[in-house]
Amino acid sequence: MEEKGISEREVLEALKKYREMDLKYENGRILGSMCTKPHPISKKIVEMFLETNLGDPGLFKGTKKLEEEVIGMIGELLHNKNAFGYIITGGTEANLTAMRAIKNMKNKNAKIIIPETAHFSFDKARDMMDLEFIKAPITKDYTIDVDFVRDYVEDYKVDGIVGIAGSTELGTIDNIEELSKIAVENDIYLHVDAAFGGFVIPFLDERYKKKNINYKFDFSLEGVCSITIDPHKMGLSPIPAGGILFRDKSFKKYLNIEAPYLTETQQATIVGTRAGFSVACTWGIMKLLGKEGYKKIVSECMENTIYLTKKAKEYGIESVIEPVMNIVALKDENPKETCSKLKKHGWYVSICKCVNALRIVVMPHVKKEHIDEFIEVLVSLKS
Ligand SMILES: *Cc1c(COP(=O)(O)O)cnc(C)c1O
Repeated sequence: MEEKGISEREVLEALKKYREMDLKYENGRILGSMCTKPHPISKKIVEMFLETNLGDPGLFKGTKKLEEEVIGMIGELLHNKNAFGYIITGGTEANLTAMRAIKNMKNKNAKIIIPETAHFSFDKARDMMDLEFIKAPITKDYTIDVDFVRDYVEDYKVDGIVGIAGSTELGTIDNIEELSKIAVENDIYLHVDAAFGGFVIPFLDERYKKKNINYKFDFSLEGVCSITIDPHKMGLSPIPAGGILFRDKSFKKYLNIEAPYLTETQQATIVGTRAGFSVACTWGIMKLLGKEGYKKIVSECMENTIYLTKKAKEYGIESVIEPVMNIVALKDENPKETCSKLKKHGWYVSICKCVNALRIVVMPHVKKEHIDEFIEVLVSLKS
């Protein structure tokens, strides 16, 4: 750091140079990210709420009220008016929070069944807390093997089960209804990771739904204790905005820590000082778009998903599964190599771990013309 500061103009000009090195969503080359360009109203809201801190909610009563309201709105979307929770930094923190609740509720070495397809944030949770994970295998449709779970809880004491509604790699939905039954019958905590799917499934038009998939994933299933749902993915909020919702307020006591020097003397979130604009943006975008707005966005993404799948197939490139949501996995014998070749041509896809495939997330910034260009490049690389 220099002794003397520089002018505002110099600072901004210097920053601009760095910013220009970043990829831009609107160029349509980012095909492997679950994030997208935030809704344009975000800029105004961030400006208005820039200094707010929900780590000290007594000082920001209005922002705190907004958080209660937005949790209420998301709770209603997930069929539960009594939901309790927070807008936090993301799906990772949300999953950590849920794991922390199980640990404090049940016992020190909580034993938790998670599907093989679970997001790596659960590995962080295991690292940080004394959790024992039992990895449940996946069936041929890439969802949790419910029979394995049922058999396992009959033989061993289990404290928690995790189900996924919209897996990171393939967008598959576990049979949460069956997991819920198992959880209720055996008094086991059930957490649903809908970090991505939470802002997709409720807005999915009937014409995109498949008969053999159970789309139920929320609090309408009585065994579901908590849900991760991220506004900064398909919710179109700016980063950071993750959501953790519990069935009711009774779960708070498992999360509370004494916070004597703050205006509210118990703190339940992992993060202390916490951005209020995340809450305000999520509230504002949900109000602005309404269900209708989100349905339109999800339908557009689904149309483009189907378009991409069809177009790839025309060139003999098959997808691993018929897409459940706006995530496509294209079979590829050497996905790592194809991925790096694509990068050299300026296209950024990701790869799957559970199967040899390229992974494309068809977010709102991905348009048909981008898909056309992409397929052309992909085909040229393969021939
Ligand atoms: C994205 C994702 C996460 C992690 O969310 P972050 O916001 O990146 O921390 C967790 N679970 C699932 C299913 C996800 O898709």
